[in-house]
Amino acid sequence: MQEFAKAFYKSKAWQRTRQAYASSVGGLCEECLRRGLYRPGEIVHHRQALTPENILDPAVSLAWSNLELLCRDCHGAAHGSPRRYKVDAFGRITTR
Ligand SMILES: [Zn+2]
Ligand SMILES: [Zn+2]
Repeated sequence: MQEFAKAFYKSKAWQRTRQAYASSVGGLCEECLRRGLYRPGEIVHHRQALTPENILDPAVSLAWSNLELLCRDCHGAAHGSPRRYKVDAFGRITTR
């Protein structure tokens, strides 16, 4: 977690928001669910990444429309951890 975000992630407002959001989507990873997998979500992710400028703007940092419940794997992928291959629509493994 980045330094500027620490106080935000500890705030009551965020704790309440993430819990309410996670239960609203049934506690499952939304990305896995789109692929027909049922995996528990662990991390409430911000679709629009938080920055020192927008973190205090509740329309960005606390808006449900900007949140997504993800498992660890999907969260890593959402943050662009390097993937060496992907699977295409035909189930073939392709390299990028
Ligand atoms: Zn997932
Ligand atoms: Zn994230």
